[in-house]
Amino acid sequence: MQEPNSKFIKVRCPKCKNEQIIFGKSSTKIKCLVCDKVLAEPTGGKSKIKSRILEVLE
Ligand SMILES: [Zn+2]
Repeated sequence: MQEPNSKFIKVRCPKCKNEQIIFGKSSTKIKCLVCDKVLAEPTGGKSKIKSRILEVLE
């Protein structure tokens, strides 16, 4: 499961405050599991995080 550049990021949904761990290089939109708000969008191989980053996990 691990890639050299991969990072998991813990974010907090700005809408419902749900904390969720997302993959930092996802090629798909990542939505909040609770309220369906988009938390991150893919932009050229990197995810653009649209939510508050609490922690970066390596
Ligand atoms: Zn949410």
